[in-house]
Amino acid sequence: MTDASYEEIARLLPAGPPLCLTTHESPDGDAIGSLLGAGLAFEAAGRDVWLYLAGTTPMPNEYGFLPVDRIQRELPSDLEQREFWAFDCGSARRIGPDESVLERPLRVINVDHHHDNTRFGELNLVDPDAACTAQIIERLLREAGIAIGSDVAEALYVGLVTDTGRFQYANTTPEAFRLAARLVDAGADPARVFAAIWETVPFAKQRLLGIALEHARLEASGRLLVTWLTRDDYRSAGADEPFSEGVVDHLRAVEGVSVAALVREPREVDGPRHKVSLRARDAGVDVSKIARGRGGGGHVGAAGFTSNETLQEILAFLRASMA
Ligand code: 5GP
Ligand code: MN
Repeated sequence: MTDASYEEIARLLPAGPPLCLTTHESPDGDAIGSLLGAGLAFEAAGRDVWLYLAGTTPMPNEYGFLPVDRIQRELPSDLEQREFWAFDCGSARRIGPDESVLERPLRVINVDHHHDNTRFGELNLVDPDAACTAQIIERLLREAGIAIGSDVAEALYVGLVTDTGRFQYANTTPEAFRLAARLVDAGADPARVFAAIWETVPFAKQRLLGIALEHARLEASGRLLVTWLTRDDYRSAGADEPFSEGVVDHLRAVEGVSVAALVREPREVDGPRHKVSLRARDAGVDVSKIARGRGGGGHVGAAGFTSNETLQEILAFLRASMA
């Protein structure tokens, strides 16, 4: 349970046992970009790499221009002989429902930028000052002297451009811009990434957004904007599960709102009843604190939790959290 330095983790990169790399379920751009960027770079450095993503939730289609077919949905049969690296996972539960997975590998290495990371690894490199997990990986590769090819650069750039809200959120530091420049120098193509992620929106995703905006309701004297999506809403829009990504950011854009929330029904009927996404705008509100009140977590400005409560109970909890 020790905190490791960049130097200590970078030292492990050039040589060692076979690896199993993973990220969180319902992966976003930083999760997929970090997993693929690290995987391709470690492999080019001569490591045996298995890329794993738990669950069966389909990959968001906007990342399909990356080599996502390299990502396996099953664990390797020789997991006991592998070192297990988790990227962008604030807690063991984020990897998947079966936390006992972590007992099988040679050891667990936790690389993440969430300030509330639970340090579930044997070695934990947690850097809350990093704009994205991809930024941590790029620094590790530099310190280990591992070259960044154009495929690695583009994957890491996806993590950076998505987690910074296209270089607009508060984590858009000078270092984030310097990293962007290095990645573009190494072959990442910003226009290609933009077109692939933000100009390939399925019509059903826009329809789902329309339904979410239709349901939206101002609470707490206009400081809280909440909406919800039921399984029926997904069905009537013709939408897949990942299509609700980004809905909550549209809510946050509304004048006077300091917290935006999306409460949605996950597709798996045997899982938790609701998944809640929270976003904050003003510096005075820490939504990860609200999320921890229901067993979740995240960043100050973007957090989430799962819940078996009803929509009404969750709304009451959110309202009370704004008091
Ligand atoms: P999203 O709303 O996009 O699903 O998640 C936003 C952020 O909240 C994620 O980057 C992650 O840090 C955090 N998050 C979302 N759901 C959970 C959860 O169930 N548990 C924890 N610990 N963090 C979550
Ligand atoms: Mn991230």
